[in-house]
Amino acid sequence: RNVLHWFRSKDLRADDNRALHAASQKAREGAGALLACFLFSPEDLEWHGTSPARVDFMLESLRLLQEQLEGLNIPLVQLTAEKRADKGETILGLVREHDVSHVFANIEYEVDELRRDLDLFERLGGEENGVQFVLHHDQTIVEPRTLTTGAGGPLKVFTPYHKAWLAEVSGDPSLLDTVPTPDANDKSVKSGDLKKLFGQPVPKVPESKQFPSTKDRDRIRKLWPAGHAAGMQRLREFLGDKVQTYAQNRSTPAADNSSRLSAYFSAGVISVREALGAARKTNGGSADFSQSGAEAGVASWVRELVFREFYRHMMAVTPHGSMNLPQNLKFDFVQWEADDEGWRKWCAGTTGVPFVDAGMRQLAAEAYMHNRLRMNVSSYLSRSLLLDYRRGERWFAETLVDWDLCNNTQGWEPSYTVFNPVAQAEKCDPRGEYIRKWVPELRDVEGKAVFDPYHRLSREEFDKLDYPPPHVDFKESKERCIQRYKQDMADA
Ligand code: FAD
Repeated sequence: RNVLHWFRSKDLRADDNRALHAASQKAREGAGALLACFLFSPEDLEWHGTSPARVDFMLESLRLLQEQLEGLNIPLVQLTAEKRADKGETILGLVREHDVSHVFANIEYEVDELRRDLDLFERLGGEENGVQFVLHHDQTIVEPRTLTTGAGGPLKVFTPYHKAWLAEVSGDPSLLDTVPTPDANDKSVKSGDLKKLFGQPVPKVPESKQFPSTKDRDRIRKLWPAGHAAGMQRLREFLGDKVQTYAQNRSTPAADNSSRLSAYFSAGVISVREALGAARKTNGGSADFSQSGAEAGVASWVRELVFREFYRHMMAVTPHGSMNLPQNLKFDFVQWEADDEGWRKWCAGTTGVPFVDAGMRQLAAEAYMHNRLRMNVSSYLSRSLLLDYRRGERWFAETLVDWDLCNNTQGWEPSYTVFNPVAQAEKCDPRGEYIRKWVPELRDVEGKAVFDPYHRLSREEFDKLDYPPPHVDFKESKERCIQRYKQDMADA
């Protein structure tokens, strides 16, 4: 009987794919063929608000994956389930039609996805079908939920989690080992009953998920070339160069010194083991990434990947985080403002706060924003404007190429830390290069006035700029936020 690997939107690669590798071994044991599928659900995309940039990146990566697998005589069938609820039935249809004994997939940690898998688990395994559904952990090096406090509960704070993670990995470097690409199917697969599964048309992208123009599409594709080979090349280039100064420059957006690999990680186009295996080589072969300080480029980059692991762990520990609720449930009681003008200005990058506007314009142009700016624009929306943080979270999903539910919801998690975007700009963009790049109205503003032109230029000079005054006063808005949060959470 045949074996099926079901690719999800987070493991789009043939290399170092845990479930795919296990499926390949199972097929070889039973002398059946290995088949692969991807389920495209337009309703899923609408539900999550997935951006055209991410949809395109995903489908282009899938197209390359399909070519790679077909070279191994493994068909990758791209099915469409119009409704999210039809997914199980669609998989069952494929299983029945092609005499499948085992379905393999990698676990997705979000609640809806877990429920879908539980439902399918029962239906596949029932008497009528008798098919085994085998799920693997693949997205992280250390399995979510496994790192615990001395008392045995899950770790919920990043710093101790990071420490425990480092000890786990240096204690067992085999956690970084990768698995090989699947074995090729017998040639007969391409000429036999399964022949028709090859070379099938790719899914049709709903209009709402297409780029407004081919010019936009080409610009984004150039920034984020799809596929495993492109991701690995980017990884090699980063580790061969920028990682050395990562610790010093990671918060300086003008240096553009980070790896820009997030889109590849979030769609699973490259694996975190591939990344850390390569980082280990740069680290002189050692799996001890505990160095600190300005010299510790690799260790400081690995720390960011540990954040990614921590957020998956926290999603498993507090599942309501993927149900449109804050991790700290008290924040659900905050009464948000309905400032439509502020919302429109935030989206368009015309709030009158240069650092915030620069970030929002980078997002519009590149489907990506530097991490320091993500921190600032999210604080500005949910604290300075006091708009519901979920609106911003959704806007990010609708625009980012690297949208990832775990990283995004936890990046947006409300808190009392109100960033001062003028002070932040002075610290992280000291020469104003990032601002001048993205806000051309301010290109000719000299010196420190570029950080706050409304307050630092004469009225006459400011009026010549064609740039708006700040939508809110920072000091007043900060007081309003702290008071509102305190009061509403006390009432909760
Ligand atoms: P690098 O600095 O090179 O880091 C390497 C990798 O580590 C990244 O590719 C990413 O996978 C991971 N990483 C880095 N920083 C973080 C972080 N703070 N939290 C979790 N993982 C991290 N990241 C996403 O991948 N998708 C999102 O939708 C997303 N939304 C965010 C929303 C907000 C409000 C904030 C504050 C952060 C968000 N992040 C998100 C995290 C972070 O901003 C991006 O991962 C990072 O900017 C991507 O650039 P890079 O690949 O060059 O990162």
